[in-house]
Formats: sequence, C-alpha cells, structure tokens
Amino acid sequence: MTRRELIHSATALALLPAQKMMAAQAALPKLPFAVDALEPYIDARTMEIHHGKHHQTYVDNLNKALATQPAVAAKPVEQLLKDLASVPEPIRNAVRNNGGGHLNHSLFWQTLGKHSPGAAPKGKLAAAVQKSFGGQQAFEEKLRAAGLTVFGSGWVWVTAKAGALTIETSPNQDSPWMAGVTPLFGIDVWEHAYYLKYQNRRADYLAAILNVIQWDFVSQRYEEITK
Ligand code: MN
Repeated sequence: MTRRELIHSATALALLPAQKMMAAQAALPKLPFAVDALEPYIDARTMEIHHGKHHQTYVDNLNKALATQPAVAAKPVEQLLKDLASVPEPIRNAVRNNGGGHLNHSLFWQTLGKHSPGAAPKGKLAAAVQKSFGGQQAFEEKLRAAGLTVFGSGWVWVTAKAGALTIETSPNQDSPWMAGVTPLFGIDVWEHAYYLKYQNRRADYLAAILNVIQWDFVSQRYEEITK
C-alpha cells in the first residue's frame, strides 16, 4: 500500500462512517505499521501486547456485551458512546469501557508510524497550532504537561472547536466522542502503553511518542474534521 493509499484508507477509518464501524462483530483493525516500526521510541513488545492483547480484549468484551442486547448491537460504536443513556443498563459500562477502548485505539494506531525527522503539522493544522499555542514546541509542551496531569489511566486529546485547538484529558477509555465531538488525535497514557520500556517514567514516554505522531495524517484529518 502506498503512503497516499494508506492515508486515504486511514482517514476513512478514522472518520468512522457508520457502515465501517458497526458495533456488532467489532474486529481488531490491522496495525498500519510493523510492530517494530516505532522503535526506539515505542518498543515492539509493547506494541504486540498493546495491540494484540489489550485492544483485542476490548473488541472481544464489546462483542460479548452486545451479543446480549440485539436491539442496540447494530448501532455504530460512536453512536452508542454519544448516547450511553440509550444503551441498556446491564451493558452500559461494558460499552463505555470496551467500545471506548476499541474506538480510541483504532484512531490511536492510525496516528502513529515510523519517525520521520522534521515532520510537523501542515497547512491549516499548522496555522491552527500557531494560532492556538504560538507554535509546535509550545503545543507539544502543553500535550506533555496534560499527559502528566492524568491521574491513573486515561488519554490526552486534541479537539478542533470553532477554529481553535483544545487539549483535554479523559479518565479510563472515555473520550470526546462521548460528548459528540470527533477528536483530532489522542495519546494513550495508560501504563500498558509504556510500562515495559519506561516503567513509571510517563514524562519520558510522552516525549518519545511525540516523535512517532504522523503529522501528515493528522493534518489531513484536521481538514476533514473542520470541513
Ligand atoms: Mn491502550
């Protein structure tokens, strides 16, 4: 697959049209890169476990929960999360945690890839970064700082609202999708994302992962989201 095709298909997945992300029979998406592609920033063993075990478990548990509630099983995950009150109480938490885990990681993988020196936001995203944070360095500093404020497990998110970029955090597998907002990208700060290589040093992980964000992809996604 060429980079262009990959970005195209990744964008299609990331924007999650209903027919592509039906909750029923959720499936683990293939990683768009080799498990060792993020070395030395993110090690291959972490990627194998994170994608092959953690994400797979979210998929399996989401499917298990939905199998008991055929009335909502065909709805897109994104819609279930946006309207959790409509999800039958017996599976509401399972959908929140495992549907959230599935959706969050599906986007996360698309935004990661091999480090390419000098990569940076482009076009409208570059302008939005400048306007919202004063530059890429300040943007990354704020992302790292936000990552350190998450107590326990959670995510750091960047959303685009009214032409400005906002950094927010969520606990567990919650996300902006739950408030009906499509995130631009997120950074997983669960210990399972970094513990093998960085142990308790979340700050080092946050600095490292910013080296493998695919800014071309995120820039294109920004244009799609803000269209
Ligand atoms: Mn994770």
